[in-house]
Amino acid sequence: MKADRTSLSDLLRVSGFKATEGRVEVLGLFIKAGRPLSQMQIMEMLGPRLDRASVYRILSAFTEAGLLHMAYVDGRHRVYELPDKCGHSHCHPHFSCRSCGMTACLEDFQVKCKGSIGKGFVAERQKVLIEGLCPGCKGK
Ligand SMILES: [Zn+2]
Ligand SMILES: [Zn+2]
Repeated sequence: MKADRTSLSDLLRVSGFKATEGRVEVLGLFIKAGRPLSQMQIMEMLGPRLDRASVYRILSAFTEAGLLHMAYVDGRHRVYELPDKCGHSHCHPHFSCRSCGMTACLEDFQVKCKGSIGKGFVAERQKVLIEGLCPGCKGK
């Protein structure tokens, strides 16, 4: 996906959104980052240009429209990503650095599931989160 203004505006329009400055910026951040981002990280990257409520509204609307999906919830932080690597019911595992909050998609990491989830239960989605230290924080 390209992150220039025209591509971003087209993508927004196809998904039923008006290409406002805020939406273009938030979507552009995800495409440029190529990794999951939390609302906090997005706020830091944007600086004072968008307030918390606007960012929240954009993220919620994007998630509802399928432009983003929620990768996982880390404590009180929701972490979002572009859905290009995920199917509807299957999502790859994620890594979260407990020191700097950096997140990564673990596409080659296999989680083997064995056994039954129990009679009467219906599994809809699997979310796996590996926590630890990223290469940048490991040596500190
Ligand atoms: Zn780190
Ligand atoms: Zn991911």
